[in-house]
Amino acid sequence: MAAERLQFHELGLDDRLLKAVADLGWSQPTLIQEKAIPLALEGKDLLARARTGSGKTAAYAIPVIQRILSSKQSVREQAVRALVLVPTKELGQQVQTMMRQLATFCSRDVRVADISGKADVSTQRPILMEKPDVVVGTPSRILAHLNAQNLVLHSSLEMLVVDEADLIFSFGFEDDLKNLLCHLPKIYQSFLMSATFCEEVQALKELLLHNPVILKLQGSQLPDGTQLDQYSITCEEEDKFLLIYTLLKLHLVRGKTLVFVGAVDRSYRLKLFLEQFGIPACVLNSELPVQSRCHMITQFNQGLYDCIIATDEQSLVDPAGSSQTKGKEKKKGTEKGGKAKDKEYGVSRGVDFQNVANVINFDFPTSVESYIHRVGRTARADNSGTALSFISHTEQDLLAEVEEALSGEDGTSTLKPYEFKMEEIEGFRYRCRDAMRAVTKQAVREARLKEIKQELLNSEKLKTYFEDNPRDLQLLRHDKDLHPAVVKPHMRNVPDYLIPETLKGTGNPLSNNRRRRRLKSKPDGVLRSSFKKNIPGKNPLKSFRYKKGHAGKS
Ligand code: AMP
Repeated sequence: MAAERLQFHELGLDDRLLKAVADLGWSQPTLIQEKAIPLALEGKDLLARARTGSGKTAAYAIPVIQRILSSKQSVREQAVRALVLVPTKELGQQVQTMMRQLATFCSRDVRVADISGKADVSTQRPILMEKPDVVVGTPSRILAHLNAQNLVLHSSLEMLVVDEADLIFSFGFEDDLKNLLCHLPKIYQSFLMSATFCEEVQALKELLLHNPVILKLQGSQLPDGTQLDQYSITCEEEDKFLLIYTLLKLHLVRGKTLVFVGAVDRSYRLKLFLEQFGIPACVLNSELPVQSRCHMITQFNQGLYDCIIATDEQSLVDPAGSSQTKGKEKKKGTEKGGKAKDKEYGVSRGVDFQNVANVINFDFPTSVESYIHRVGRTARADNSGTALSFISHTEQDLLAEVEEALSGEDGTSTLKPYEFKMEEIEGFRYRCRDAMRAVTKQAVREARLKEIKQELLNSEKLKTYFEDNPRDLQLLRHDKDLHPAVVKPHMRNVPDYLIPETLKGTGNPLSNNRRRRRLKSKPDGVLRSSFKKNIPGKNPLKSFRYKKGHAGKS
């Protein structure tokens, strides 16, 4: 029998915090919260390795808020008491949201400000002049404010959190971080959260932490097979498109899905390809203004979109944690074309995509770390999830690396083969080829420009962005009219005769709206080849079965 887990009310927290936790619907602390919160409340420094989605933000946010509430009982004077360093703007916003949620019932006593992105330094000055209790930001932004004396920490800071510490290094923030430490007081409590304990994190530990407690909670950095199903399927370039079309169009993939590709152009290629079949998808990459990206993630979390195609460029430019590149990363990633990338962008790391049912690696990640962080977007907290990786011939070695890193102690493989009979969907090949032909290089380029243009127009901070990125402004001025790929009406529907017998019943949503509504209302499920196998009232992920005759596993 598992040992009794501590409950939130047993942690000695302020009632206002307990109320917020209850409002969030959290019934009990996650493992890291259960371990970290009591230690943090004792005043210990912590170095915690926790897998993504383990509830690590609240593991430090709860004690930070608790300590501020306690401090303020004796010293009411307004001051910046906690600093949270994050590697990306997205994570900054997410941390702010989480902290504000937790401080809902003490929002006068605990004010949180995220200054990780958006406005320029001078615009943010008034925010800092009010001395928010918690300041969240990227190291470079915080340093800029410290240097401009908009932020003074040496007498007031009580707590420092470095979140996703390993990524802070791989994003090239090392120098900023070191310079920033000179502005801090001699004594403060520190929390270092990191997915990996790489060399740099060890070095930072020496620098920051005093006699820390080290929490290595999970042996594996991904949830086990009861919570997360991981599959791989070998397919070459054209088959990747054929398969993703089938999975999405026939609703074999159900629920919110993150599709990862290896480069920005590929994300537009895939989007234009899917568009022709009436399959909507958002594209998320570092070229888009931060407001657009955050807004997109928020809307995705609210359930507005089913599918995001994300470019995990970091894993290409600088495989986070890869031993070859550690410490040698450039400050800014560059793509082939030399276009500067936003270094504070990170889709697969840290960002809280909520209730993601599926992660599909359309292009396989280039490192184990990247695999873990991509796949870690699903099966978060207590939810289930599925990851499916398409593996081309050239990616086999990477798959072997991932398999080796993730295999169980008994040598069992974590990634099961996704036994999908490709020959059964041959009938779709012709239309897929047709759609692929329409996605020319020119169409991809135009879509990419159109998207940037649209998103910039959508973004309130248009001017700021253009000031920071004059090249994009130039590009836009020389932009031609867009010619989106021609969408042929017949491509939207799937004629019945093309659907393999074994996949019938998965539905052609556009030809039968009533059916579609019915299917939509079913719980999320993933990669099942038949809804008929769905056991009512059960999580379909747990009852995952291939229909007999279609695939080997039955
Ligand atoms: P994190 O690892 O901090 O990114 O958190 C992952 C997700 O878990 C977030 O959506 C949190 O809202 C959620 N979460 C955090 N703590 C709990 C908890 N005790 N119970 C349920 N969900 C939680």
